[in-house]
Amino acid sequence: MGKFYFKKILFQEGWKKNVKISTDNNGKIDEIIENFGGTDYETKVQLAIPGIPNAHSHAFQYAMAGLTENHSESKSSNFWTWRNEMYNLALNIDPDSLQVIASMLYSEMLKNGYTSVVEFHYLHHDKNGSKYSNLCELGERLLIAAKDVGIHITLIPIFYNRGGFHKKYESEQKRFISHSSEEYIHLFEKTLETVKKYKSNIGIGVHSIRAVDEKMFGEINDYNKDKYPFHLHIAEQIKEVNQSKKYLGTTPVEWLYSNFKIGKNHHLIHATHLTEKETKLITYNNSNVVLCPITEGNLADGVFNYNLYQEQEGNWCIGSDSNVGLSPFEEIRLLDYTNRLKTNKRDTFKNSKSANSGEIAFQAIYNNGHKAKGDEKSDYFEIGSSLDFLDIDHNQPLIHNSSEKNLLNTIIYSTDIRSLKNTYTNGIKRGDDLSEKEEMTLNYNNVIKNIKNY
Ligand SMILES: [Zn+2]
Repeated sequence: MGKFYFKKILFQEGWKKNVKISTDNNGKIDEIIENFGGTDYETKVQLAIPGIPNAHSHAFQYAMAGLTENHSESKSSNFWTWRNEMYNLALNIDPDSLQVIASMLYSEMLKNGYTSVVEFHYLHHDKNGSKYSNLCELGERLLIAAKDVGIHITLIPIFYNRGGFHKKYESEQKRFISHSSEEYIHLFEKTLETVKKYKSNIGIGVHSIRAVDEKMFGEINDYNKDKYPFHLHIAEQIKEVNQSKKYLGTTPVEWLYSNFKIGKNHHLIHATHLTEKETKLITYNNSNVVLCPITEGNLADGVFNYNLYQEQEGNWCIGSDSNVGLSPFEEIRLLDYTNRLKTNKRDTFKNSKSANSGEIAFQAIYNNGHKAKGDEKSDYFEIGSSLDFLDIDHNQPLIHNSSEKNLLNTIIYSTDIRSLKNTYTNGIKRGDDLSEKEEMTLNYNNVIKNIKNY
């Protein structure tokens, strides 16, 4: 149980002053009192915003962050050459090392303001491609890592069946593969049992339309019946769009919407290369796109056509994907600034009611990010939800002197991690124990030392 007094805190309708929020034994909000004037509280917070959902991550890839920028002078570096390096890393991860990497990553995510993460998890089998006796051994390690550091997790066991359109999987992909829909559904159901043990969320998904055939895609979509959030990579690279045209006769999004029932429960990762028709298919059907501007920039994917998508009132949120960058504010800024550079206009984020950049972007990443993790919400803080918030340094000079209508913009556009004092999930301050942090760092260093020459 906790009792928090917030001098200023951000709700969906705007900043509120003097709010008391109490939690039950599980860290869920059981009371919100506005215009609070009493002294019955335990923790006083001067300035708070809600914790931020991260809607797309591949935890193991954190181990290669910063290690793929020393390019060959003679050979071109692109997404596909990066992917080879990523496969080499994937082949070298064992359950213990995955847990250690994920613990370090999730603790750094919390430090950067993410309070929940959606793990798009396709590394299922051992180094020979054989099943572990616990089918979801590696997925369970992610759940343990998340629980240990205190981040909420939605685990998505991913269906991966083939190496490309009409192409058997490659040896480097053997750890990812389910040989049939039945085999994948069995893995999903085992994962569901495990996720329940950890009181976490689950989603369902396929890696991409190149990684499963039409029949299998339909079987998984029918099996799900919109029960769990359905995630898939969609149009990240021009090469995969061209291959889709060649093998399926149409672009990825058109193919998807003309063959299956796709709606508000579908979350399309990296909808980078969309035609106008595809954009409308996504928005008319009220689906969501998960943008990962830092990774998309790092991997030279391309630029998302934000203006067209916004004109159609499309839903979007963010993810850290390869985890080469962990700042949610940087994801927003990069999306915005890429668009400004392209259009020579500064007002990227706007709708019929407002053109307040920070407020519009924050609402999008919060509301759609929660849908992506299978947890729809109507306000940033509400009864029954876990109390997740960021304690912002109100003495930071820019923040201290900002006005109410600009305060969120000041936090998002002009400050960084140094202005985030503490991150709370379930009403508990995270990352506080220095000896735990020291042990985590030592474990991490040892793991990286052993897999560095992958
Ligand atoms: Zn991804």
